Parts: sequence; C-alpha cells; structure tokens
Amino acid sequence: MHYSEMFLPTGREIPSDAEVISHQLMIRAGMIRKLTSGIYSYLPLGYRVIRKVEQIVREEMNKAGAQEVYMPMVQPAELWQESGRWEYYGKELLRFRDRHERQYCLGPTHEEVITDLVRNDVKTYRQLPRNLYQIQTKFRDEVRPRFGVMRCREFGMKDAYSFDADEAGAEISYEKMFIAYNNIFRRCGLRFRPVEADSGSIGGKYSHEFMVMAESGEDAMVVCAKCSYAANLEKAEIVSPEKKGGLDKNWLPLESVHTPDVRTIEEVSAFLKISPREIVKTLIFNADGEPWAVLIRGDQEVNEIKVKNYLGANELELAADELILKATGAPRGFAGAVKIKAKVVADYSVMNMVNFVTGANKEDYHLKNVNIGRDFAVEAFADLRVVEKNDQCPRCGGGMQFVRGIEVGHVFKLGTKYSKSLNAVYLDKDGREKIMVMGCYGIGIGRTVAACIEQNNDANGIVWPMPLAPYQVIITPVNVKEGDVLHTSEKIYQELLAENIEVILDDRDERAGVKFKDADLIGIPLRVTVGQKNLVQQNVELKDRKSGETRIYHLRDIVAEIKRIIAESLNPPGHHPPET
Ligand code: ATP
Ligand code: MG
Repeated sequence: MHYSEMFLPTGREIPSDAEVISHQLMIRAGMIRKLTSGIYSYLPLGYRVIRKVEQIVREEMNKAGAQEVYMPMVQPAELWQESGRWEYYGKELLRFRDRHERQYCLGPTHEEVITDLVRNDVKTYRQLPRNLYQIQTKFRDEVRPRFGVMRCREFGMKDAYSFDADEAGAEISYEKMFIAYNNIFRRCGLRFRPVEADSGSIGGKYSHEFMVMAESGEDAMVVCAKCSYAANLEKAEIVSPEKKGGLDKNWLPLESVHTPDVRTIEEVSAFLKISPREIVKTLIFNADGEPWAVLIRGDQEVNEIKVKNYLGANELELAADELILKATGAPRGFAGAVKIKAKVVADYSVMNMVNFVTGANKEDYHLKNVNIGRDFAVEAFADLRVVEKNDQCPRCGGGMQFVRGIEVGHVFKLGTKYSKSLNAVYLDKDGREKIMVMGCYGIGIGRTVAACIEQNNDANGIVWPMPLAPYQVIITPVNVKEGDVLHTSEKIYQELLAENIEVILDDRDERAGVKFKDADLIGIPLRVTVGQKNLVQQNVELKDRKSGETRIYHLRDIVAEIKRIIAESLNPPGHHPPET
C-alpha cells in the first residue's frame, strides 16, 4: 500500500486514560480508536494484526480437529434460565428486551448456545467426540474497562467447545487444545507460560491459563525456579506439613484473659506481647447461608477461592455481624473455635500449633493455651491460605518466584456442568442414555495483540514480531523528489508485492526524519531505505527494527534477502517447554 493513500493516523498524543504502554502505542500508531468506554474501533493497521492472530488461531484449531461455526451474539434469556446462569451471572451480562418484551442478553460466552446446538443434533456415541469453535464478538459489561482492548467490553474471542462421550475422551480433547494453544502463542512470537488456574468447584488440574509474561500484567502467578510448575496465585498449592507427634504433653491449662476492645491480630499481639505466629485467627464465612469458621495462623492470609472450592460453596463471603453474633455469641473481633456454633476447618498452618491464643467467643475476652483435640475439634486441615515468597514448589520442593502476566487464553474442563443442566445426552453402544462431557477453550484476540505490544516495544514505538506484523516491510524513499529514488522504490515495491510480501511504500513528500519516526512507531520489522547516495552504487539499506542494525544490499539482492529473513522469522521457536 502507498502510505499517502492509507488511513493511518499516527500521532504523539497519549489519551489520559491510557495507563499501559500497549494502549498508548495502539492509539499513537493509529491501530484503534475509542468509541465509548470499553468499546473500540480497529483501524486498518490494527485490524490487519487482528486478522493475523485469527489466521494463526484458525490454522491451529483446524489442525487440532476443531471445526469452525458462527453463533449469534444475541441470546434468548430462556436458555440462560435453563442453565441457571440468568440469575447467577452478575452485571457483566448485558440484558435487554425486544419489541415483544422478550428478554435477551449479549453473549459474554457461548456455553448455552453451543450446548443447545449440539443437544439437538447429536444423538449417539457415533457422533462424538466433536469440537466446535468460532471467532466472534463477545460483550461483557466489565466494572472497570481499562488498558484499551486488553480489558474492554466488546471484544473478539475465539471460543471452542468440546463434547465427549466420557471423561477419558474429554481428557484427550483437553490435551489437544492444550497443545494447540502452545502452538498458537509460540507462532505469535510471544513469551508465555501455561499456568494451573482455579477451576472452581470442579477442582483438580482441569484448568490452565496461558499467560504472556509482562510486568504490567493484571495477573500474579508463581513459577518454580527448578521445574515446570507454574500456577495462578489464587490456585498455587501449598503442601501439607508433617503432623508432629508427642506434643500433647506440653498442653498448658486453658486460660481466659480480659482483652478490652482488643480485636485485630495486631492489637492482640501488642496487648499480650506475643507474636502473631502464636495466635490463631478465626474467620467466620457465610457459605451458602451456613456459618463456617476458618482457622489460620495469625501472620497469614486466607485464600477465599481455596475456601470456596474446599467447601464446594456456590456463594462465599465473610459473615456479616449478625451471623458472627449467632455463631460466636459475641461481636466481631472475639471469635474462636472453642464452643463455636459453626463447623470448623483449619489451614495447614495451624496443624502443629500448641498453646495458642484465640478469641473467647465473649466480648472483650481471649483464650490462652488453646489446643486442638482437647479444646475443640476440626473437620479437617486443608490448604486454605495464600501462597507466600518462602513457600516451596508443591511438585519438586524448589523455590518459587512471583511473576506477573496477561491472561490471553484459558482451557477448561467443564465436566457435565452445562450438559447436565441443559440435558445434552446421547445413546451409548448399549442404547443407554448418557450425559456428554464438555470442555471450553477461549482466546482473547484483541488482548493477544495488546499483550504482544506489551512485550515488544521500545522508546520509539512498537517492535512487531514478524508473525503478527501488520506489514512485513516498509520502503522509505529518503527524498521522493530526488533522482531515481521514488522510481526505484516503486520497483522494489512491485517486486516485493509479486512475492506476496506485505509492504508499505512511504511515498509521502515528507522529511526523512518524519518517515523514519512513523515507521518505527508502527513497528514494521524491516525497513528498506532508498537514498540517492547509495543508489549511485545500485545499493539500498536494510534496517532491522528490533536490533536497529543496518546493512547495505545491492538492488539485485534485496528482495531475496528480505524473503529469506521473513521465512526464517515466521515460525519462531518455543521459549518454554510446554507443561503437561
Ligand atoms: P479475566 O479474568 O481477565 O476477566 P476471564 O477469566 O473472564 O478473564 P475467559 O472467560 O476465560 O476470561 O475468556 C477467555 C479469554 O477472553 C481470556 O483469556 C481473555 O484473553 C479474553 N478476555 C476475557 N475478558 C476480556 C475483556 N474484558 N477484554 C478483552 N479480552 C477479554
Ligand atoms: Mg472476566
């Protein structure tokens, strides 16, 4: 394309809401424009990159045996009522009515629609397994849209759904998607890692998020320094300590102490002159209406997601004052497990504690020398806390690092969650009715583009990896009015086009400095500079955007050299061994 004809509004101005570099650069490079909060238009340059990601995604999904469909964005309420999510899904679900007062939503995801599609047309085991995917627009009314297209409200997603006859089949489908995702993000030229993620009450190793490593990322994760273990912070496991025996004889007599208006761990610790490590914190949770006491050592933090999964609760929140009073007989700040009217579960950190301090379930009192087994019983010890810097890798015992990343993809074993509620059944070999086993697999297309920019930029702008570059080459005639410069540039341009190379010819009558700046800003990997000085020897200059290196080539060699570089950089090697 000739630059002079392009709709490519580059600029220096950074909108005030653009906090992260990818957002700033996507605006400055003329890739996107905001229509309204969390809703963006892609301009030609931006949309070319979107198409590149989509193409890689399509190729790898097809290779993995998935088939492309296209489902409606507008979805009837009835289907969501059937799955139970109409009530359950919060305000992210945009609901509206048509002229007949029928209720609809804009699809934030498509489990309901796809399950409806499959249940109507798949009847026997011979039609299974199936994996269907689409690349389509989603709408989620995010509370805080931010970071441009990284967390917006309307966005393109590739979503795939697998249907299998049984668990073993579903495992294979999951594995295929896991491999396809590794291929996709490797081919995009990203540094990424699959990490174990929370999979709600389904539990187990059934969900992986694909994280693009970036300091600016919203997601925190831990990665093992020694083995391939990596997990979302919410999910990172803590191994059970050894139960130390023989402690029973050290039990001291239980003692009640007056602690007027002393409530928090800090206050108790200061008042009794003890370390928070000698206190057991008792948190009262409301789990689907039931009170539960969760115990944890005073210096540590409860991970609510782990608690929710452990209890298998649909809704979990810290109890309101009323429920605390009911369970403990005291106001907030004096809860303890002794004689509490709630079930008690304790984090591993409490397992080997003796003679500790807890609330007394009585206003202004705490208990000293409390001991499990003598003073109260727990339902179980479990992994309920937030992982810390000093924790060890649950797989190999190695040290853990805390890093940040951007979630670009998610693979998830759904089990029968939707097939059950929506009655997606088939007849097995013996003519018995069985429920299909599902998986779902998402990739944010726009977010992948933004994440790529987060990883690939410098002070001058975007530095596209070849596979996602909107154009592979830009030809910059230094002065379009001088000698043969423009004419030769046109010639190279035509030759590159004939080789199917994506190329811009910057034919604008601008100063060279202006053109170089724009070429750097929009991040085109290769720049051919055509200037009268070099042309005297039939030479042009080739500049690598990433390294900044320049080399001189004869006119007869330049096209072959460009072809070679592009071919070499289109299929980048992996950066991390895929974890299984
Ligand atoms: P997040 O935790 O970031 O909100 P999610 O868990 O809601 O993500 P999924 O429902 O698994 O995301 O969606 C699949 C993919 O869609 C995500 O991995 C991400 O790449 C993309 N995605 C999700 N929400 C958004 C959004 N608001 N804007 C852009 N992309 C998104
Ligand atoms: Mg979300």
